[in-house]
Amino acid sequence: MQSLWDDREAADFIARYGERWGEPLALRVYTSRLIGRDDTLVLHGGGNTSVKAEVPDRFGEPRAVLFVKGSGWNLADIEPEGLPGLDLAYLRRLRALDALSDEDMVNELRTHLLDARSPNPSIETLLHAFLPHRFVDHSHADAILALTNRENGEQLVRDALGNGGLVLPYVMPGFPLALQVAAAVEQRPEAEGVLLMHHGLFTFGDTARESYERHIELVARAESRIQAAAAADGES
Ligand code: ZN
Repeated sequence: MQSLWDDREAADFIARYGERWGEPLALRVYTSRLIGRDDTLVLHGGGNTSVKAEVPDRFGEPRAVLFVKGSGWNLADIEPEGLPGLDLAYLRRLRALDALSDEDMVNELRTHLLDARSPNPSIETLLHAFLPHRFVDHSHADAILALTNRENGEQLVRDALGNGGLVLPYVMPGFPLALQVAAAVEQRPEAEGVLLMHHGLFTFGDTARESYERHIELVARAESRIQAAAAADGES
């Protein structure tokens, strides 16, 4: 697996979307489509992406906004409207709660959208919000799932990812998972990604390109580890 990043294509997205939506969201649309274009990253349903940016509100005052993939959109042909904006400062306050049911969480998300016409934000929105990084990329990559589903899967992924990736046990998506990932990343701020067993991979970075290319790199490492494991199976 290789990075599909292309400077000229990136510049086209900025030219097309930058003026109305801002450069961070323009590039977020670009690398979301790069992930969506690769069947082995999104075959098993979705994946989602986000970017944090400062956007002036109706009064011209800067607001911290999380743009995260909305339901009903595919990454492969996503538009800026497919990444609803939410009040990031408010979402981060939710981290102080002891518990939040899925139903209440969906309500908190819907009532803190910037645009009432937006689709529902991803069920993994709070995970994106609680991470400090500007760009976050998430997929349910085939190679990651195949590796974690093997016997000794956890050891295999730890070997494959090396020091750059954190490995966490499976937890259903929702508020508890968002808390757990945020806490783990705070303990290891230099991590480039988090692999959730039997679920998928999150990577992050300061730029769209960095977060995307970390994703490709970690998935590529998982792919080569699977090939090595398969070859070893063949020998035994
Ligand atoms: Zn997921």
